[in-house]
Amino acid sequence: MNQHNYNAITIVDSLVTITSHTEKIVLEKSLLIALNALIPTKNIRLFRVQKTGEKHEISLLAFSANGVISSSQNNKQSQPISDELSAAFESISQHGECEAIANADNTGWQIIYPSFDANKDIYMILVQSCQQPTTYEQKTVHGIFKVYANHVALIEKTQRDKLTGLFNRETLDDEITKILVNGNDDLFDVNINDARRTSGKPRNWLGVIDIDHFKLINDNFGHLYGDEVLILVSRLMTSGCMRDDDLVYRYGGEEFVVLLKATTEDDAMNAFDRLRVIVAEHNFPQVGKVSISIGFVEITGQQTSSDVIGEADGALYYAKHNGRNQTQSYHQLVEQGTLVVPEHTPTPDVELF
Ligand code: GH3
Ligand code: MG
Ligand code: MG
Repeated sequence: MNQHNYNAITIVDSLVTITSHTEKIVLEKSLLIALNALIPTKNIRLFRVQKTGEKHEISLLAFSANGVISSSQNNKQSQPISDELSAAFESISQHGECEAIANADNTGWQIIYPSFDANKDIYMILVQSCQQPTTYEQKTVHGIFKVYANHVALIEKTQRDKLTGLFNRETLDDEITKILVNGNDDLFDVNINDARRTSGKPRNWLGVIDIDHFKLINDNFGHLYGDEVLILVSRLMTSGCMRDDDLVYRYGGEEFVVLLKATTEDDAMNAFDRLRVIVAEHNFPQVGKVSISIGFVEITGQQTSSDVIGEADGALYYAKHNGRNQTQSYHQLVEQGTLVVPEHTPTPDVELF
């Protein structure tokens, strides 16, 4: 045992540092910085685990390799897991503890530390590559990881809407701003040529979605049925999203926002309209048919997140006044001259004189 590294004060200090953060990316890094300082290991990786049907998929959140710590926010695509990892997950699910897998070429071990969600499914794993794992080291690492995971769970709870379980609007502004800033960065990236900027790369789209005549549902069937419709519409939209990284928010009472990626405007239109059709075709218990209207816009070049939402809202407003149960594109409406782009008044902080 390494006396210096396993000093209780060092461990407590690292827990204090980890739990002082609320921004997920900073949290991930602070976990890895703490573990890296505590244990002599050349490689630690943090993965998010998702279960689709009976199969697990993982996506890399952050890693520490030879002392370099990085979070991989642009590489969130999930991937299927190997049979070996799948077997390790099986036994982890039985005993709830960490699992050691020996490298095939006898070069050391991979220790898999799990954390679980409220349904007792594996939610995240920390993978430590090391030579010879001691029980003491494993218990220390796992303990720190569990504190980290509890803290993450608490933060995630504050980001969710209680009724539907969707993201609430708290984090929406940050997400849109991040996309706007990253989009601007592309302009300075010499590795991205114009063709890729305009074609191959998936673009970001925001749709504002509003349930049609929802007040009537409340009036005719009561609030409890209204709530049930909100829950079902949320589920239908979440399951109707095509990609892992599409995000569904409850924006207000019966309004939702969906952020999705699509390569062309037609693809975006199809993706949003798919959600409309899924809802329109569903039979809601007692209530029968429910429809939604959608206005969407590409997130690119706007000054602020409220400009983005304002544009999508403009298209939604048009849908509401032209028959409801339809999907409208802000750009198309502007191009047709149906919607007029409001004149941009510069905000004081960008005004130079
Ligand atoms: P439109 O097609 O123009 O969108 O009409 P609408 O009736 O859906 O729109 P309106 O804005 O008039 O009514 C929205 C209603 O949603 C009013 C409000 O009482 C109800 N509402 C908001 N939040 C909740 C909620 O959490 N649960 C229930 N049951 N109703 C809610
Ligand atoms: Mg509304
Ligand atoms: Mg409505």
